[in-house]
Order: sequence, then C-alpha cells, then structure tokens
Amino acid sequence: MVAGFETSRQLLERVAGTYEWLQKQVCSAGEMAGTCKSCGDCCDFESFDHRLFITPPELMYLTAKLGAENIKPMAGGRCPYNVDNKCTIYEYRFSGCRIFCCNGDADFQSRLSEEALQKLKSICVDFQIPYSYADLATVLNSLAGV
Ligand code: SF4
Ligand code: SF4
Repeated sequence: MVAGFETSRQLLERVAGTYEWLQKQVCSAGEMAGTCKSCGDCCDFESFDHRLFITPPELMYLTAKLGAENIKPMAGGRCPYNVDNKCTIYEYRFSGCRIFCCNGDADFQSRLSEEALQKLKSICVDFQIPYSYADLATVLNSLAGV
C-alpha cells in the first residue's frame, strides 16, 4: 500500500520541487492560469462534475506531511480536506489542485498537467514506485477500506 511506504527525504524534496515548479508556471502564466476566488466549489467533485486524479508520489507526500492517520476517505463527492469551503491542506494539495482554475485556459492547464505528470512519473521511476494515475475518491476510499 502506497501510504505505508517509508517516504525518503529525497522523494519528499522531489515532490516539493515539482510543486514549487508548478507554482512558478502558474504565477508566470498571467490570465491563462485564471483567477481563483477560493470559493471551494470545484472541491465538491460531484456537484461540479469534476474529477481529480493523483499519482503515488503526491499521496506519499501528503501522507508524510499529515501522518497516515489523517488520510481520510471521501464520503459523498466532496474532497474530505475541504472544510467550510476552505482547503485544509493547502500547502500539501495535489498537483491537479494547483493547476485547475475554473476560469483558466483549458489548453494551458492540459499542457501543464502533462508536464507535471512527466515529472511525477520520473519520481516513480527513480524511486521504483509503481506509477498510477487514479481518481482521488478511489484512492482515499481504497486506503480506508471503504
Ligand atoms: S477554481 Fe473556480 S470553482 Fe474552484 S475554488 Fe477557484 S473560483 Fe472556486
Ligand atoms: S486538496 Fe484542497 S484544493 Fe484539492 S480538492 Fe481537496 S480541498 Fe480542494
């Protein structure tokens, strides 16, 4: 189980570096990146008709930062880390959360997603982690056994 892996400092640094790189790309993209009003609506995947896919290094990073006991299942369609419309894990949020903006340019987001995925795949290769790209609800509920 991915969340049970002992996560090396080097792996955490690679994921943090990927997130820093993403932040720079989004900040330098201007209007193409969109302007998020932090309403939290898109974190309710069912009502927003939206899905978030994640990779093992992202989950390992979150698990290392929060502690395995704080990885929550997803009941209903809303991300369990969205509380009162606020992201409670903002610093450790997934790459898709960093890229997506409801009023951003879809092509820009698609290109950035592909580049981010290449980086996350290369982390999997370098650390010999099986790569997957899976729906957040499926991953969280499978870890919780629900
Ligand atoms: S991307 Fe859009 S829907 Fe999602 S939190 Fe920002 S403003 Fe709200
Ligand atoms: S991690 Fe944060 S930003 Fe991403 S879906 Fe969950 S609450 Fe929303």
